[in-house]
Amino acid sequence: MDLEKMLVNPKVTAQVLQKYDFKFAKKFGQNFLIDAHVIGKIIQSADITKEDCVLEIGPGIGTLTQFLAEAAGRVISVEIDNKLIPILEDTLSAYDNVTVINDDIMKVDIGALVREYNGGRPVKVVANLPYYITTPIIMNLLEKHVPLDSITVMVQKEVALRMQAGPGSKDYGALSMAVQYYTEPYLAANVPQNCFMPRPAVDSAVIRLKLYEKPSVEVRDEKLMFKLIRASFAQRRKTLVNGVSNSPELAFSKEEVADALKQMGLSESVRGETFNLEQFARLSDILGDM
Ligand code: SAM
Repeated sequence: MDLEKMLVNPKVTAQVLQKYDFKFAKKFGQNFLIDAHVIGKIIQSADITKEDCVLEIGPGIGTLTQFLAEAAGRVISVEIDNKLIPILEDTLSAYDNVTVINDDIMKVDIGALVREYNGGRPVKVVANLPYYITTPIIMNLLEKHVPLDSITVMVQKEVALRMQAGPGSKDYGALSMAVQYYTEPYLAANVPQNCFMPRPAVDSAVIRLKLYEKPSVEVRDEKLMFKLIRASFAQRRKTLVNGVSNSPELAFSKEEVADALKQMGLSESVRGETFNLEQFARLSDILGDM
């Protein structure tokens, strides 16, 4: 690998942008990486070998993709912006193990891709994510039960902190619980704004989510538990009883929720933000039987 000639060299990125007269599309969250150290961190945290099939979300002009193609057996990159497709054909022409798909990751049948390109075996997701849509992308990957080994992604630093947070922290919420139900999060690196072109307005972080073989707590009705979690965090300052009984997604009365809390040995005045996953699972099992 000659780093001087790769897109991670800001001069090469600038040349490519100029050659194709490419204008960054703000609506697609385009901030391209120009720091080899950061890309090294991503590849290292994702623990990629030639045995691996990687799903990349948003290859941009192919900066991270070039490194993924060197490290992995196969790379599937899904890019929404059709203006980037001819550029990717050029910048990735030296690699025969990369397939670029011009589509919206929220609309693609990821399960079908995994079957087609990796025989249904778990893939590793690696991406410098578009920040306007980070949470929906992560939730979609987790909730669809796509065969995944891990998700290693660049996200806004604040989102990385939310994914890792526990009860009592101001960052704790529905995203923390969903991530920690399915995965073990590990914050691999903090990334400053000057590692991107153009610079984003916020700091970033690389986070690795390693999928558990089975979820971290047992619950009879996963969907009900997540509705309870969303209801409890929708109005943070309210008690859990009020949050759940007011939820348009649920049909439990105040009395039923208070009774469930009593069965758990808890007061009616508890707030959702003090609850851990096990407590939400228990609450869900009790309410599910009512
Ligand atoms: N991977 C490149 C890099 O690191 O330099 C680009 C990262 S940039 C932060 C995010 C990329 O995701 C952009 O190329 C953008 O066009 C693409 N993108 C945005 N929304 C998308 C979506 N819904 N589906 C697929 N790609 C998307």
